[in-house]
Amino acid sequence: MSTRGLAALHAGKNLTPFSFDRRTPNTNDIDFSVSFAGICHSDIHQVREEWGPALFPMVPGHEIVGIVDRVGSDVSGFKPGDKIGVGVFVDSCRSCAQCVNGLEQYCAEGMTPTYNGYERDGKTISFGGYSNRFVIDQKYALHVPDSLEFSGVAPLLCAGITLYSPLRFWKTDSKTKVAIMGLGGLGHLGLKFAKAMGAHVTVLSHSAKKEQDARAMGADDFINTSDEAAMLAAEKRFDLILNTVSAELNINDFLKQLSLNGTLVCIGLPGKPYSVNVGSLLEARRSLAGSMIGGIKETQEMLNFAAEHGIVSEVEVIDANYVNTAYERTVASDVRYRFVIDAKTF
Ligand code: NAP
Ligand code: ZN
Ligand code: ZN
Repeated sequence: MSTRGLAALHAGKNLTPFSFDRRTPNTNDIDFSVSFAGICHSDIHQVREEWGPALFPMVPGHEIVGIVDRVGSDVSGFKPGDKIGVGVFVDSCRSCAQCVNGLEQYCAEGMTPTYNGYERDGKTISFGGYSNRFVIDQKYALHVPDSLEFSGVAPLLCAGITLYSPLRFWKTDSKTKVAIMGLGGLGHLGLKFAKAMGAHVTVLSHSAKKEQDARAMGADDFINTSDEAAMLAAEKRFDLILNTVSAELNINDFLKQLSLNGTLVCIGLPGKPYSVNVGSLLEARRSLAGSMIGGIKETQEMLNFAAEHGIVSEVEVIDANYVNTAYERTVASDVRYRFVIDAKTF
């Protein structure tokens, strides 16, 4: 099926218009017109090969919403006209313990990423959501609640679930003191979800100018990370710190802000490793953890929770020809708070 989109033809190159074919839908597939595709910082890391060798041409995009056009004869639960979402993976082995237990993102054989990976046949490169059409197996498709503003839903499919899942795993409730490091695409949704779960939420940001926005989105407190006195005063304050920062930083400054038994969850994935001062962990039985997106069942739960609480991403909707500029602005932490591409412009 002929498809139009944007691709990086080589590592680090600007994205340019690109035409390609998607598979002919099979009986379990849903064929849909993309409406909006979010720009995740992971798209930028991969286009620029900051995580190691990648596959080109690359059509990025794993925050995809659209409207169903056709469904295969074995598809149940979706029909033409429905709103549909696709996130960071489009398949997995379907039989390992993780897949069976709704943790497909940790599939023993590796999930099939929405782009920059191979389909299960091991040879077809997967192409992502910066495109006008998509074909998805029904098992990996999400129902998008009608009540939510559609462009603001796209970022929930990666940024949203990536913060929702650790908030749930570490049992966030009204007694939890949460800190969110980095008020970008992921961070601002973490703030909204943590507040909806009743937590006390502090934003730790290196952009002083974001304080007003953070408070408008519900933050109880805001710390400018370059304010040394404020950083020191926050030692031993938080039960759970979610680190969404995309760049290198001194992780020890933040580990010290965990209270007894607290956990700092690494979510942002800069290209270089952190240097951890183990003493910071020992002195308060602290944990340093990681978390990656969420499974299909939990992603649907997150979308339903978002509908219940009226949570969507703050977005700047852009045309396809603005994507390269949007990449630069995202890297400069100048995004309020997610760029979303209008798929009509591909
Ligand atoms: P983003 O919108 O660019 O937000 C990242 C934020 O990090 C920025 O807004 C900024 O917040 C802070 N930051 C950036 N550069 C910084 C620097 N030099 N020093 C200190 N703080 C800095 O990116 P995103 O899309 O939210 O993604 C964030 C990270 O999570 C990326 O590395 C991405 O690849 C990763 N990610 C991981 C998963 C997962 O499953 N674990 C899923 C999606 C994305 P302030 O201006 O407030 O300081
Ligand atoms: Zn992402
Ligand atoms: Zn599996």
